[in-house]
Amino acid sequence: MKKIISNSSRAIIGNPIEIPGKIQAQKMFSNYKKPLDGKVAIVTASTDGIGFAAASQLVEDGASVMISSRKKLNVDNALEKLQKKYSADKVRGVVCHVAKKDDRSNLIQETVKIFGGIDILVSNAGTNPMSGSVLDCDERIWDKIFDVNVKSTYLITKEVLPHLISRGGGSIIYVSSIAGVDPMPELGAYSVSKTALLGLTKIVALDLVNHNIRVNCVAPGIVRTKFASMLTETESLSEHLLQTIPMRRFGRSEEIGTVISFLASPLSSYITGEVIVVSGGMKSRL
Ligand code: NAP
Repeated sequence: MKKIISNSSRAIIGNPIEIPGKIQAQKMFSNYKKPLDGKVAIVTASTDGIGFAAASQLVEDGASVMISSRKKLNVDNALEKLQKKYSADKVRGVVCHVAKKDDRSNLIQETVKIFGGIDILVSNAGTNPMSGSVLDCDERIWDKIFDVNVKSTYLITKEVLPHLISRGGGSIIYVSSIAGVDPMPELGAYSVSKTALLGLTKIVALDLVNHNIRVNCVAPGIVRTKFASMLTETESLSEHLLQTIPMRRFGRSEEIGTVISFLASPLSSYITGEVIVVSGGMKSRL
C-alpha cells in the first residue's frame, strides 16, 4: 500500500521544505553581530594543531585572521582549507619563524597592509626538542627552547604593541601548557619555559592595563596534535597519561581554540593577567 506523507512529516523525516519562519530566522541571523566582527588577529604557528583551530575559531567568531608558520607549503595548505570554509578575504597567510626578527616584522607589516590594523595577538609557537630532566638539558637546546617559547613571545608582543595601541586597545593571548603549571619532569626545560609564560602574562597584563589591552594565557592539557604525538600515540605511555586525566581522554585542538577566541573577545572583558587551564581536569596548581 502506498504511504501518504504530509508536508509536515516530510520535513521531520529529512526532506526539508521552505517555511516562512525559517526564512525569517535566516534574515535575523544574517544581521547577528559576531563577537569579533571588525577585529584583526595574528596567530603564530597556526598551520596545524592548536594554532590552526584558534585561527579557525577566530574567523568563525567574526575576525579577519593572518595565519603563519615556518614552511610555505604548510601556510598554503592551511590557507586553502580555511579559505574554502570561510570567505577568502577573511584569512591570509605568510611564512614566519617566530624566532626570526625579519619574519616577525613581515608578519606584522603584511597584516596591517592587508587588514588595516591589528587588534589581537595569539602567540602560540612552541618547541620541545628534547625529553628528559631539566638538569640534563644541553645549553644549546635550552637556548632554542627559550628563544622560541619565551623570547619570541616577548619580542612579538613589543613589536605588535604600537598597532594595538593605535586601535585603542586589544587582546593578547599566550599559549603555555599544563606543564608550565604543574611541571613534568620528563619535559624539564620545556616546563620551565612554559612557566615563564605565566609570569610574562601577569606582568605584561599589568603594564598594558591602561592601554585597554588585556593579556591572558591558555594552558592546554594533553591535546592530540603532531607536537604531542609521542605522548598520545605511544600506547603504554598514553594509557598511563590517561589515568592522570579525570576526563580520561586527550583534548582536541578545537577545545583550546574556543577558549582562545573567548579570551580575544569582549565576552572576557573583565579578565586580564589570567591563566585558563584546559586539561580535562588535570592537576593545575603551581
Ligand atoms: P602542532 O599541531 O604540531 O603544530 C605546530 C604548528 O607550529 C605548525 O603549524 C608548525 O608549522 C608551527 N611551528 C612550529 N615551530 C614554529 C616556529 N618556530 N615558528 C612558527 N611556527 C612554528 O603543535 P600544537 O600541539 O598545536 O602546539 C601549539 C602550541 O601548544 C605550542 O606552544 C605547544 O607548546 C602548546 N601545547 C601543546 C600541547 C599539546 O598537547 N599538543 C599541550 C600544551 C601546550 P611549521 O612546521 O610550518 O612551522
